Amino acid sequence: MNILILGSGGREHALAWKIAASPLADKLYCAPGNAGIAQEAECVALDLADHRAVIAFCQTNKIDFVVVGPEGPLVAGIADDLEAAGFKTFGPSKWAARLEGSKGFTKDLCKANKIPTATYERFKSANAAKDYLRKKGVPIVVKADGLAAGKGVVVAQTVAEAEAAIDMMFGGGLGERTWEIVIENCLIGEEASFFALCDGETAIALASAQDHKRVSDGDKGPNTGGMGAYSPAPVMTPEMDARVMDEIILPTVRAMKAMGAPYKGVLFAGLMITEEGPQLIEYNVRFGDPETQVLMLRLMSDLVPALLASRDGQLKNFDLRWYPDAALTVVMAAKGYPGDYKKGSLIEGLGAAAQVEGVEIFHAGTRSDGNHIFANGGRVLNVCARGNTVREAQQRAYSAADKIIWPDGFCRRDIGWQAIAREK
Ligand code: AMP
Repeated sequence: MNILILGSGGREHALAWKIAASPLADKLYCAPGNAGIAQEAECVALDLADHRAVIAFCQTNKIDFVVVGPEGPLVAGIADDLEAAGFKTFGPSKWAARLEGSKGFTKDLCKANKIPTATYERFKSANAAKDYLRKKGVPIVVKADGLAAGKGVVVAQTVAEAEAAIDMMFGGGLGERTWEIVIENCLIGEEASFFALCDGETAIALASAQDHKRVSDGDKGPNTGGMGAYSPAPVMTPEMDARVMDEIILPTVRAMKAMGAPYKGVLFAGLMITEEGPQLIEYNVRFGDPETQVLMLRLMSDLVPALLASRDGQLKNFDLRWYPDAALTVVMAAKGYPGDYKKGSLIEGLGAAAQVEGVEIFHAGTRSDGNHIFANGGRVLNVCARGNTVREAQQRAYSAADKIIWPDGFCRRDIGWQAIAREK
């Protein structure tokens, strides 16, 4: 098959690495890709917002299957447009992608189907939102309705903080004007990322993972896109996995089908494991970044038939096999991230780092001039490793990270601390 991956981050590098290893993949392309992905696939400069250009590329290059990485193109309907043009596509339709595109839509779906999630209300005006919040008290969570690249959620500890978040969102502080917000109760527990492959009718669970969102050691500092992750997540016992499938994922798949928007693709549930059980924090309609990097290291089966079965509605009798090993990834980011940072600094030592046992390095934001690798984004590299335990995977990942010569970069030094504390 000729396969095209859309996207340019560490998630797409991990997908490209796994797809390139499939005997089903003849020719692999990635648009727009990055310097690491170029080792697995031919990178092509396509603007993913230009669906016609993507379709024209598929026609010219006889693409058999398109795998969409990021949520933006899915919410914009790229899967619908590609399918309408005759190209098999992995990823949900625009209607189904509302599970990530609109928090209000997802909360209403949960309420109507008794899917456990924090109690909430939706608001279109700041005054009504503030009245509600004063009634509820703090801590409380304020969320903008649309996609906001991780910046649309404020967990407020004081009323003043919550009011400021409401004013910021309705005042256009997230770039585009926010028309609606959700205010919900603050959940207490341990967070986990849960992934399920869905085919419109049914779903199968993938491995679980946990990520570290804060920029600094000890889970301090501002939120980021993710500074590291590991799999499996110790809090996700087999019993908890089964509860998440029965109480959250499968009711969602049934509800989406019933409303005429069957969900196909990977459903990524952000969970809070509370004393009462799992609660849905949010849905994403694509693979997680950096969770995918550790999932791909642990996946023993061929990924391509699984993605095809999701697209074709054939997951009912499908099974995936996983290595029992743990996997962990450390994100190396440009100094200053998630605030302002410089692009273009030189990165060396990647070859030596990749030699460490069990290590795989995925690129997130890099470019190459043919001889050298340069930083080209905020999150730049994912140094990943497998090991018998999370602790062993962590030691290998940091031993590799220490061989990378990049004075303008940094990483957290404690990725996996929760899991390692449990292993002890
Ligand atoms: P989201 O973008 O919805 O994943 O939210 C970002 C982060 O905000 C989550 O990973 C949680 O740490 C936190 N969060 C969101 N909603 C809640 C909630 N209802 N209770 C506690 N924390 C929350």
